[in-house]
Amino acid sequence: MKRIGVLTSGGDAQGMNAALRAVVRAGLDRGAEVYAIYEGYQGLVDGGDLIRPITWNGVGGILQMGGTIIGTARSAEFRTREGRVRAVNNLIKNGIDGLIVIGGDGSLTGADTLRTEWPSIMQELLDTGQITRSEFEKYPYLAIAGMVGSIDNDMWGTDITIGADSALHRITYAVDCISSTAASHQRAFVVEVMGRNSGYLALMSALATGADWALIPESPPDVDRWEDKMCEVLKAGRAAGRRDSIVIVAEGAIDRNGNPISAEYVRQVLEEQLHEDVRTTILGHVQRGGAPSAYDRTMSTLVGVAAVDEILSASADSTPQLIGMKGNRVTRLPLMECVEKTRAINVAIKERNFTEAMDLRGGGFKESFHILRTLVRALPHDPKPGQRRLTLAVLTASAPAPGMNTALRAAVRLGLDRGHHILGVNNSFLGLINDDMHQFKWMDVDHWASMGGSELGTNRHVPSGKDFYAIARTIEERQIDGLLIIGGWAGYNAAMSLLKERENFPSFQIPIACLPASINNNLPGSELSVGADTALNNIVDAVNKIKQSAVASRRCFVVEVMGKYCGYLALMSMLATGAERAYLHEEGVTLKDLYHDVRLLNTGFEHGKRLGVMIRNERAHPLYTTQFMSNLFEAEGGDLYEVRMSVLGHLQQGGDPTPFDRILATRYAYRCIRFLEEEALAGRDTVACLGVQGSKYHVTPLEEVIRRYDAKHERPKEQWWMDLRPIAQMLAQPGPQYYQQDHQDVW
Ligand code: ADP
Repeated sequence: MKRIGVLTSGGDAQGMNAALRAVVRAGLDRGAEVYAIYEGYQGLVDGGDLIRPITWNGVGGILQMGGTIIGTARSAEFRTREGRVRAVNNLIKNGIDGLIVIGGDGSLTGADTLRTEWPSIMQELLDTGQITRSEFEKYPYLAIAGMVGSIDNDMWGTDITIGADSALHRITYAVDCISSTAASHQRAFVVEVMGRNSGYLALMSALATGADWALIPESPPDVDRWEDKMCEVLKAGRAAGRRDSIVIVAEGAIDRNGNPISAEYVRQVLEEQLHEDVRTTILGHVQRGGAPSAYDRTMSTLVGVAAVDEILSASADSTPQLIGMKGNRVTRLPLMECVEKTRAINVAIKERNFTEAMDLRGGGFKESFHILRTLVRALPHDPKPGQRRLTLAVLTASAPAPGMNTALRAAVRLGLDRGHHILGVNNSFLGLINDDMHQFKWMDVDHWASMGGSELGTNRHVPSGKDFYAIARTIEERQIDGLLIIGGWAGYNAAMSLLKERENFPSFQIPIACLPASINNNLPGSELSVGADTALNNIVDAVNKIKQSAVASRRCFVVEVMGKYCGYLALMSMLATGAERAYLHEEGVTLKDLYHDVRLLNTGFEHGKRLGVMIRNERAHPLYTTQFMSNLFEAEGGDLYEVRMSVLGHLQQGGDPTPFDRILATRYAYRCIRFLEEEALAGRDTVACLGVQGSKYHVTPLEEVIRRYDAKHERPKEQWWMDLRPIAQMLAQPGPQYYQQDHQDVW
């Protein structure tokens, strides 16, 4: 049997606990034993009680906790060979020859050093009589795997690191709060965010909050008197109607000569030039703290499971891997290549080779910076001479999804900046039918980045019959060259109806872009739609409260979540909350399932379980309703536990969009505007849907998207997240100690 050690090292990050839980449970599930190494590498060096087996239940209830329950530290001793000799000895004494490290580049380097030195240290331990020959022969190599725990998102090779999304939640919330007080007093604020050499948090939070200026280490302001330029932009913003100004400074921000730019310096500059009260907020460790976001819980869980599989399949000569993310897929890359490239970014910044630094950060980072530079402008650029000015209409369709306004804001500003007219159509397709629309001005969307819902209004109307005449007239009279539909399936359907009527109405021969926005995440052509992350966080927050309310009593909750026939929210919230079960329409529900679940709950509560959460998709089964399930569990649970049901309802659709949704909405909008412009200027009339598929953005023709749709069940025929079910199921099993009796199938 393999014995795996797991440790968290370096700075802590929200989601480390989720990763730990996944490592422990996946390890046990795969038949390995898992040992927790407490206090990072120091625990490895000191050994003794700091290296202990950790059980299935030992990681129960930690998914929602920030920080790391096994502690983290910086260890000077581990940096010395002497320290590492003690570390290896401790590993051997505990029979561990596989190590999973959750930490930053320093911690991962440490793991690699230990792996490289293993044979020579083992020889030394043998020669000095600290280990026996049989121990020497039994453990010829150390297998390692790494995951990046760092709020800074500073590692090359992975799109995101454990903790970065939660840190963005903290920052976004703080900046939203600051914006409202700043606007009341017409003040400017300088907000310093963490990130060391990485500008990710500053850049993405500026994008997500609609801040006016951001200073990041990778791309310092490109003019010598950048202070004047920044103040000019802020002044112009005020002149155009903004009541507040927010500047976000990364803690590692520098100017082109490599001199640090401090928040205090920015404050002084603003005060001198804007002649107004300027305040500074240094967010500090708040960014590291608090509960992990839904994304940090699910992502860390997935990489944790993958790290276990990686280490269990490693051999003496396999290259150690870093487990990370590309798009919404888990990836593996050679660990030391990632560390070296990460260091190269730091060197590039130090040597003021900013082009290289930006290149190494990757396409997504560069694109986001480019978008930010446009969005922060107080006024659009002048149109390029000779370029045709297009008229693009934008509308929101289907149910409201948080992030629709963010997408609108980005589309309006990016479109205006390209020199085009942007028409905001009210009330979805009804606005096109009734010619109810207005021309957007730059400042109209000023505060929309953080607003939930849709300011244009949205509904599910799909045009038919006489509507087409009316729409055709509007398009002709307004000379609309392209249409952007931000929404869910009703929007896609409406686009299809126009496409089908093209022969009768030639004015419909314009390019149309569909930007996926639906909390249900049930749109083909896109694996992620805007709004789903916010809905997931809403669910996770609600389940947290429900759990807390029940901590003293022995209770089981049946929680009903939205999604129509699509089980995405149910499954992902099961992963993110550690619920015992998710009922999905895709899988159906049988009496046999319910019988099994009753036994599972009863056995669990008999063995000391205090709380159960079962998540049911709203349409999982027409007859086995939420009420039915609650009644069933209540009846069968007897005195063991009480059952309550909770139908979460519309709170899932509401609230301010999460940073993830705001960033997704902004990047989708950017691509949609580019698409419409290219198509319209080339005289093409493609109708297409945009979306992330795997790790890339794709533009898929609408006809193809329709082919991939299961119209009866209003979801894609193939759903990528269905592959995550075994992981969710595995993590929710109550562990070998009490599910043995459950193994004989009584049916
Ligand atoms: P991070 O992992 O967040 O980058 P540090 O650089 O502080 O944080 O590293 C955390 C710990 O990892 C250090 O205290 C040390 O014990 C170990 N470590 C870091 N770099 C090395 C190295 N080059 N060799 C051995 N151990 C290292």
